[in-house]
Amino acid sequence: MELVVATRNEDKLREIKALLKGLPVKAFSLNSFKGSPDVIEDGSTLKENARKKAIQTSRFLKKFVVADDSGLEVEFLNGDPGVYSARFSGKGATYKSNNEKLLRLLKDVPPTKRKACFKCVIAVADKGKVIGVSEGRCNGKIGFKSEGDNGFGYDPLFIPDGFRKTFAQMSQAQKNKISHRSIALAGAKKIISRYLSPYL
Ligand code: IMP
Repeated sequence: MELVVATRNEDKLREIKALLKGLPVKAFSLNSFKGSPDVIEDGSTLKENARKKAIQTSRFLKKFVVADDSGLEVEFLNGDPGVYSARFSGKGATYKSNNEKLLRLLKDVPPTKRKACFKCVIAVADKGKVIGVSEGRCNGKIGFKSEGDNGFGYDPLFIPDGFRKTFAQMSQAQKNKISHRSIALAGAKKIISRYLSPYL
């Protein structure tokens, strides 16, 4: 069965593919479907955005879709950047400019006040209807400098609890064991298996 991951981010597709191993699905990103609309992520929560993306994409493509929305919440910034994680540093934001802004805002903030958590919400939809929603989180803290070359986004700044290295210093397999996305995907996998079981 074909499964569309409602993203144009090939990094994300790669992570999700690795995590969906074992399911009888072949995953594609939106880059494989010309003309699929970019859903505007204007919800006030990650859940709203994930549901909206899943519903609109599955309705348009008439396919089975998983859509995720994720973000980083920093305690010292009262939960920011949260739903604005991708565009934290404004128009034309890049991973680098977002990370630079975060480090600037946390300059001189002591280690005990640098708590943060990654959150991920995954919505699964078929033919415009949500079948289920799953959520995952990963607690950690923000480091004082960018470290590591793996992963994407805020990975070089995020040190998960119980580790002395950032997500970007971990292999993909190691990150996948503990990440917010892997926890949310484990839930999504159950939703998908249950939904597909009559067809298998
Ligand atoms: P999206 O809207 O779900 O693509 O994610 C929003 C933003 O959150 C991304 O552009 C990244 O900056 C950040 N983000 C989400 N998940 C991760 C992750 O696993 N590592 C690093 N950054 C992430």
